[in-house]
Amino acid sequence: MTQATPRSVLVTGGNRGIGLAIARRFAAAGDLVTVTYRGDKPPSDEGFLAVRCDVTDSHQVDCAFKEAESVHGPVTVLVANAGVTHDQLLVRMNETDFTSVIDTNLVGAFRVAQRAIRGMLRERHGRIVLISSTAALHGAPGQTNYAAAKAGLVGFARSLTHELGPRDITCNVVAPGLTETDMNHALTAEQRRELLRQTPAGRLARPEEVADAVAFLAGAGYVRGAVIPVDGGAGLGH
Ligand code: NDP
Repeated sequence: MTQATPRSVLVTGGNRGIGLAIARRFAAAGDLVTVTYRGDKPPSDEGFLAVRCDVTDSHQVDCAFKEAESVHGPVTVLVANAGVTHDQLLVRMNETDFTSVIDTNLVGAFRVAQRAIRGMLRERHGRIVLISSTAALHGAPGQTNYAAAKAGLVGFARSLTHELGPRDITCNVVAPGLTETDMNHALTAEQRRELLRQTPAGRLARPEEVADAVAFLAGAGYVRGAVIPVDGGAGLGH
């Protein structure tokens, strides 16, 4: 659906994978899209404003928002998508494996959401979507760090929903299951088979299918503190 008035949208980690599919979805609807990247830039011919930003650095987050605001106006849709995994069984996990995953996936979302809220309060309007994972809801072996970070996003979104009260600013969570991106290249064939065995859809998600849920939440004013699984039925709605 094309937006009557283009929104200023910021997607973290929008240079590839799920973030790029989300950015494309908003751009196709006519929105003004800023994508942040840490390593490689996003494709240059898609009309995004590309801004370098490591979400573990508050100063870079502030600079990215300032640039997005100066080119596209106040950010009224934020998608906190940037994420990493450092999988390891707990007995072998070192403290840096744990804290670095929390710092990117959970504290990174805090940094961008807190920065976004300032402008949204001034605009009296905003939509925040946090990209979590089904690991937050069901756990996953080797992912105590990642599942803890992604579960933290659920508590974060629900607490923020209470804080925002009747304002027209929403915060919701999308929890994808296994999705076809670079993040899953390390999975063994056996792990993949086992995960698919637990998934009624019998296949991985496409990044565009995660973008569908994000686009819905960006337009939904009365859905708040919700967690939307995009998991091919693996959790049967939970
Ligand atoms: P990718 O590995 O393809 O992309 C990850 C993105 O996050 C990249 O753009 C990467 O930037 C960015 N990123 C990582 N660390 C930082 C950082 N410190 N600062 C800024 N950007 C950073 O993964 P996906 O597209 O699959 O993942 C997107 C989101 O979806 C993540 O939050 C992930 O946890 C979540 N997710 C993914 C699932 C899957 O099966 N793929 C399932 C469930 C959830 P760079 O290119 O510079 O590395």
